[in-house]
Amino acid sequence: MRTLVVDHPLVTHKLTALRDVASDTATFRSLTAELVTLLAYEATREIRVQPVSVTTPVGVARGVKLARPAPLIVPVLRAGIGMLDGMTRLLPMADVGFVGLRRDEESLMAETYANRLPSDLTDRDTFVLDPMLATGGTLATVISMLVARGAASVTAICLLAAPEGLRHVEQAFADDAASAEDAAGVRVVVVTAAVDERLNERGYIVPGLGDAGDRLFGRI
Ligand code: URA
Repeated sequence: MRTLVVDHPLVTHKLTALRDVASDTATFRSLTAELVTLLAYEATREIRVQPVSVTTPVGVARGVKLARPAPLIVPVLRAGIGMLDGMTRLLPMADVGFVGLRRDEESLMAETYANRLPSDLTDRDTFVLDPMLATGGTLATVISMLVARGAASVTAICLLAAPEGLRHVEQAFADDAASAEDAAGVRVVVVTAAVDERLNERGYIVPGLGDAGDRLFGRI
C-alpha cells in the first residue's frame, strides 16, 4: 500500500477552511466538493487509458481515452456521499457503487449493512470515498471487498487521515498479511490532504474537523 499526501497550497487552503468550526453546512459542502476534485486529480494519475486518434480541424492527433470497463466510485455511507459530486465532476463516466458499514458494539467488528457493488470488478480501477481515515477498520474492510471482486486497483480518497488508521491499513495490506495474498498485484493507494496528530479517546481525529457526516448532513 502507498500513501500520497497531496502537498499543494490550494489543497491546504481549502482544508484549513474546512476544519474551521465557523464554516457552516453550505460552506462545508462546497469546500468538500472542491477539495475532492483536487485530490481526485492526483488520485487518477495512474488510471487506465487506451490510445486513440482524433481528427482535429487541421489534422490527426494522437491521444488517449479512459479504458473500458469504466472506473467504479464507491462512497462509504454516510459521509462519503458528500464527496461524490466532487469526484463525478472529474469522472462523469464512472459507475457508482455503495457500501455502508457499522460497528457491532459487542464484537467491535465492522459489519456491512449496505452493499451495492458489482460482483465482478475485473480490470476496473476503483475509487473509495471516505472523508476521515480514523481507525482504518472500515477502509480496510472496503478495500478487501473490492480486491475480492477482482478490482485492478483500489484508491481511497480521504480528506484527512490519522497515523493510527494509516498504520492499520498498511498492516492489513502488508506483503506478509493474510489479506495481502488476495491483494497481490492490486495497486492499493490512499490519497489524503493531510495526516493529523492522532485519534482521541472517542476515535476522533485531532485536530481534525469534527464529525464529517454531521457537518455535511446535520446531526440526525
Ligand atoms: N469520523 C469523523 O467524522 N471524524 C473523525 O474525526 C473521525 C471519524
